Amino acid sequence: MRMVDLILAKRNGREHSRAEIDFIINGVTHGTIKDYQLSAWLMAVCWRGMTIDETAFLTDAMSKSGEVLDLSEIGPLVGDKHSTGGVGDKTTLVFVPMMAAAGIPMAKLSGRGLGHTGGTIDKLEAIPGFNTDVGTKDFISQFKDIGMAIGGQTQELAPADGKIYAMRDVTGTVESIPLIAASVMSKKIAAGANLIILDVKCGKGAFMETLSDAELLAQTMVNVGRRLGKPVIAVVTDMDQPLGNAVGHTLEVIEAIETLKGKGPDDFRELCLSLGSLALVAAKKSPSEAEARKTLEEILASGKALDYFRKLIAAQGGNVEIIENYALMPTAKYEYDFVVPGTGVKYISHIDGRKIAEACKLMGAGRAQKGDSIDLAVGVVLSAKVGSKVNGGESIARVHANSKESFEHAKSKLTEAFTFSETPVAPQGIIRACVA
Ligand code: URA
Repeated sequence: MRMVDLILAKRNGREHSRAEIDFIINGVTHGTIKDYQLSAWLMAVCWRGMTIDETAFLTDAMSKSGEVLDLSEIGPLVGDKHSTGGVGDKTTLVFVPMMAAAGIPMAKLSGRGLGHTGGTIDKLEAIPGFNTDVGTKDFISQFKDIGMAIGGQTQELAPADGKIYAMRDVTGTVESIPLIAASVMSKKIAAGANLIILDVKCGKGAFMETLSDAELLAQTMVNVGRRLGKPVIAVVTDMDQPLGNAVGHTLEVIEAIETLKGKGPDDFRELCLSLGSLALVAAKKSPSEAEARKTLEEILASGKALDYFRKLIAAQGGNVEIIENYALMPTAKYEYDFVVPGTGVKYISHIDGRKIAEACKLMGAGRAQKGDSIDLAVGVVLSAKVGSKVNGGESIARVHANSKESFEHAKSKLTEAFTFSETPVAPQGIIRACVA
C-alpha cells in the first residue's frame, strides 16, 4: 500500500477498508508516514468525512497504537470524563477530585490546547512542579494509591492520537466529526475507562457550532463506543459564551480552586454538578440525579473535594501552597479593564468564545506551531455574561497581560467578541442535550 493512493482515495470520497486505516495508523505510530502526507490525508478526511465503520476502525487502531491499560484488577469502576474542547473549560480540575471524593476512581488522560481551545495539561502546568508527564507505571500506581490521576498524552497510550492531534492543531484540520470522535474515544479506551462521560461543546466557542453538529458528534461517539464495547454517556453543553468567567491557564486554575472552595461562577458549578450527577447515577452510586446532586453539593461545601485536589497536586509533585496563595502561579505583570463601548444601558446578548480565545492567543496563551511555548499567566476574566445589564463605559472584563502592546491587540478582538442588545436577553441553560 502507498500513502499517496490512500490520500487520493479519500480525496475522491472513497471509503477506507480496515486494512487501509491500519496501514495509516501503523505508519503514523512508527513514523514511516511523512508529516506532509499525513496532513494532506487529514485535510481529505475533513472534506470527505468518514462512515461510522471507518470511524470505529480508526478509533480501534488508534487506541491499540500503544499500550491499552487494564485497570480492572484495581476495581470494577474506572471513571473518565472528556470534553471536546471549549473556551474557559476547566471542568476536569473540579470534576476529577469531586468524583474521586464521591467514590468514583478517576483515571484521566488529558490533552494540550487544540485550535482555539485550551488544554487541561497546559492549565495544570500553571501549578509549579505539577508533573503531567506521568509514565504508565506511575499513572497506575498513583491511581491505586489515591483513586485519581491526570496524565498527559504519553508515548505509551494512544501515541498515534498524540501525533495526529499535534498535526491537526497546526494544519487547520481540527473541526472534523470522525477525527474528533476517534481522537477522544481512542484515548478513553486506551486508558481503560469503563464509565465514560463525554461533554460535547456546542456554540461559537466550540468546534461544533450548531446543536445538530454537536448532537451528531455525540451520537457518533456513542455509536463508536457501542461498536467497541464501551458504553458512553454524551452530554451536549453550551459554548455560546465561555464557560465560567476565566479564560487563560493560571486564571482558570484559580477559578477551579474557587469552585472547589464552594464558590465559583454559577454556570461552571452547574456543569460540574450536572455531569457528576449523571456519573453517580450511571455508576449506581445514587438512586436519582437529585440525590446525586445533593451528595456532590455536600462534597463541595465540606471541603472534601478541595482536599482531594490537594492530594492530587501533591501526588503529581505540584506545590499545594498555590491553593491558599495564587501568586505562586505565573502571574501577569499588568491588569487592564475592558469596558462596554458607547453609552447608555444595554444587555449582553452574546460572547464569542473563539474571539476571547483569539484575544488570549494574541497575548501569548496559545500555540502557532507544534511545540511552541505558551504564556500561562495571561488571560481574561469576565465580570459580566450573557443576559447581564451593563452601562456604556462600565468594565466587563479584566485583561491580564504581560505588555501594554499585547493588551491593545487583545482589546480589538474583545471588542469583536461582545454583542449587545437594547432589550433584555435570557441566557440559555448550560446543558443542551443528552445522548446515550
Ligand atoms: N479533544 C480531543 O481529545 N480530541 C479532539 O480531536 C478534540 C477534542
